[in-house]
Amino acid sequence: METIIAACCFCKNVRDGLPKGSDGEGSWVNLQTYRAKYQLDERDLKLSHTYCPDCMKRYRHLLFSTTADGHALPL
Ligand SMILES: [Zn+2]
Repeated sequence: METIIAACCFCKNVRDGLPKGSDGEGSWVNLQTYRAKYQLDERDLKLSHTYCPDCMKRYRHLLFSTTADGHALPL
């Protein structure tokens, strides 16, 4: 079965947390750690690229530059 997980574009960590019924962001762990924990094969993983809260904070200035009309523009 294919598993879609959120992976951070910067630090390559993945989100360990249930999409449904979980509160907040869950925790972000190394991909190898995640695979070992859930016994997942790399072929079954589908990475959805996003940014973890740490990198979002750290790279916010890179991620969002504001356009003339004030809308945030993802890089
Ligand atoms: Zn990150």
